[in-house]
Amino acid sequence: MELRLYNTLTRHKDKFVSLEPGKVSLYTCGPTVYNFAHIGNLRSYIFADLLRRMLEYNDYTVNHVMNVTDVGHLTSDSDAGDDKMEREARETGKDIWELARYFEGVFFEDLEKLNIEAPVVKCRATEHIAEMISLVEKLVERGHAYETQQAVYFDLATFPTYTELTRQSLEDKLTAARDEVQEDPEKRNPADFALWFKAIGRFANHIMRWESPWGVGFPGWHIECSAMSMKYLGETLDIHTGGEDHIWVHHPNEIAQSEGATGKKFVKYWLHGAFLVVGDLSKNAQQTDEERRMGKSEGNFLRLQTLIDMGYDPLAYRYACLMAHYRTKLKFTWESMDAAASGYSSIKEFVTRAHQIGGEEQPWVADYRERFKAAISDDLNMPMAMAVVYELIREAEGRKEYGVINALYDFDRVLALNLKKSAEAATSVDSDVEALIKEREQARADKNWARADEIRKILSQQGVTLEDTAQGTIWHKG
Ligand code: AMP
Ligand code: ZN
Repeated sequence: MELRLYNTLTRHKDKFVSLEPGKVSLYTCGPTVYNFAHIGNLRSYIFADLLRRMLEYNDYTVNHVMNVTDVGHLTSDSDAGDDKMEREARETGKDIWELARYFEGVFFEDLEKLNIEAPVVKCRATEHIAEMISLVEKLVERGHAYETQQAVYFDLATFPTYTELTRQSLEDKLTAARDEVQEDPEKRNPADFALWFKAIGRFANHIMRWESPWGVGFPGWHIECSAMSMKYLGETLDIHTGGEDHIWVHHPNEIAQSEGATGKKFVKYWLHGAFLVVGDLSKNAQQTDEERRMGKSEGNFLRLQTLIDMGYDPLAYRYACLMAHYRTKLKFTWESMDAAASGYSSIKEFVTRAHQIGGEEQPWVADYRERFKAAISDDLNMPMAMAVVYELIREAEGRKEYGVINALYDFDRVLALNLKKSAEAATSVDSDVEALIKEREQARADKNWARADEIRKILSQQGVTLEDTAQGTIWHKG
């Protein structure tokens, strides 16, 4: 099947052709581990997971690399401000390394709860300093970088294609940069960005620090992704993902660094996930049109654990993300979360019944299989894919033909909603219950309705609900 992906570089849904047949190299910008991830961050990783699963569904082997930013990400995406990790450690009085490992651990637990496949390679910035230094050395050698008293910078004037991704004019970029706080009077151009910060001046007390040809210091956030992605995936990658905010600074900087160093194209397909936005999050708030980006620094963020504590299944949040296209913003409200939880339950109910009733897959199901695959392969159109799922369920109910379960389980390789697991859990009963169900079937055959009703009541008290169908008695727990 032909795959199409919306490429931010071309602003077009491009036909996807991998560098190597059957294989895809995929890099995802990972979290900055100075705090918990919020469900907006997690939306970005659900998007990357859907992309990976869609590629796998189309028989590609995906080499998925994701970094962990544990140093160098400043409070502004440009060179102003403080290192987020260092600030957090200072404000909480905690050990910076422990802090980084703790939030990283919680992050990967969140991913697991959302059925997000673990990356093939997880790489921490602090464990790749040598690779970053050699990349910066290469940029200096090739005339793309220069050193000042405070830092080593990328010289934007040497890279005329800088605005390829943003399509913003370089002039606008420069004007905007001139308005920013400039920490270093020696910068040749206000839009030049740091590759390496020296541990002097405002960073004199920076705890995380390494030796380098430019003295003791630490890497800039952007160089981390260039160094680690090329180390694990080669100089040219198939796909690079991140949130839409990265289109403006982080990703153009990655391109400049990587292409400046190698002279080769860095990434064939750039994919960006739209933001999760929120209005007033207090539980009884009136619905309003107000919406703001959910952000760690906006003070309006919700963790996955908060949803779990409130009784939501984490996969209901995954389900909510499936209902919006990854390129459209998604507004989080409690109503939408409740709607997702109930939509998810209704699919699970159907699957639990179909799992037990079973039957041969009929020829009409083939068309749904085809349409599902076409939807996901068309720039990951998950809302369309979910519409196909619902239509399939409706048709199965209408025909009373339940041999659709294997198709649904197959779709779940991408949806990852634990459909099979939940059907098995809902229908697995111990041998006593099984014996009672058998006894009741016999009682019904003997027209002993009193005993049949009695058994139904006993089982109901044990939380097992029975349903008599044309294909026999089925049951579910809960
Ligand atoms: P950070 O941990 O801040 O480096 O962000 C991790 C990822 O989350 C990045 O790819 C961001 O683009 C993305 N992100 C940040 N805020 C949101 C949001 N509100 N909705 C979706 N993605 C977001
Ligand atoms: Zn990155």
